Amino acid sequence: SADKEKLASVAKIKVVVRKRPLNKKEIAKKEEDIITIEPNSNSVTVHETKLKVDLTEYVEKHEFVFDSVLNEDVSNDEVYRETVQPIVPAIFQRTKATCFAYGQTGSGKTYTMQPLPLEASQDILRLMNHTYCNQGFQLFVSFFEIYGGKLFDLLNDRRKLFMREDGKQKVCIVGLQEYRVSSVDAIQELIEKGNATRSTGTTGANEESSRSHAILQLAIKKSVDGTESKPPRIVGKLSFIDLAGSERGADTTDNDKQTRIEGAEINKSLLALKECIRALDNDQVHIPFRGSKLTEVLRDSFIGDSRTVMISCISPSSGSCEHTLNTLRYADRVK
Ligand code: ADP
Ligand code: MG
Repeated sequence: SADKEKLASVAKIKVVVRKRPLNKKEIAKKEEDIITIEPNSNSVTVHETKLKVDLTEYVEKHEFVFDSVLNEDVSNDEVYRETVQPIVPAIFQRTKATCFAYGQTGSGKTYTMQPLPLEASQDILRLMNHTYCNQGFQLFVSFFEIYGGKLFDLLNDRRKLFMREDGKQKVCIVGLQEYRVSSVDAIQELIEKGNATRSTGTTGANEESSRSHAILQLAIKKSVDGTESKPPRIVGKLSFIDLAGSERGADTTDNDKQTRIEGAEINKSLLALKECIRALDNDQVHIPFRGSKLTEVLRDSFIGDSRTVMISCISPSSGSCEHTLNTLRYADRVK
């Protein structure tokens, strides 16, 4: 079929870089834009200022090439078209797709990630109501976070959740609330509710949420016999992961013990994620899912016919040079 062929042409793993504009704080501090993006060659160049031993400055250039590079003038709409939209039809064909936002805190992960499930569900509902009309497809939403290696339901008052593996190595998150939705408005309401429920702790919302991975899943199910008497079967899944701030993985020498533990967990999960994506890209038989809670939870999204999009978010500022280089090196090693 034409749909199958079209799907086959969509890359299994796509790595995209998105640069955000300089913000007021960075401009006030007279920080400079040190990132150039060249969409024609899909390259990103970091202009790093260094000091010679005699204290004169020189600029070292670091160039990286990715599947797609998005400049600071690219809208969220265009980001959707470039990343998730091409894989949406595939989830009606038994495909599991996952989209990650990676980057340091403040680089634009949440800004990038939040509109994507809304745009995707708009397309999914359109397909359900037209192309696949009257075929018994249903759309479900769930939203949870991984914080310090533990799972919490963001659509159910942060109730603690547990993961179980069935005999067929399928993962199941016991007690996770799933809501059936039939409008974009309903999904938007759930996402807002979930975001308000994310870890806030004592030090303020952004600080704490930068230490957790937020996972929003859209599941397409199909009724078995055309009625609602039996539970519907899962057909495909689309997951959106707003990862913990990548710089948090380095919090392993912090004075605060809790911060150290969380930093170690984040470090472990981001490394495990990289290893799993690399293994997938090399068509390896053994995928090291057990490396972290994050990769264990995503196990069934990686096996079989899967698609992965990694959006690496970067700040343009000279003050973030080190973190930006780390982000680009991570993204570079994923492929
Ligand atoms: P993160 O989730 O990575 O910590 P945020 O998404 O919260 O970062 O972004 C930090 C700030 O920068 C927010 O105020 C956000 O609105 C702004 N921002 C991020 N990306 C962009 C962008 N591409 N264009 C305009 N503003 C952006
Ligand atoms: Mg965020």
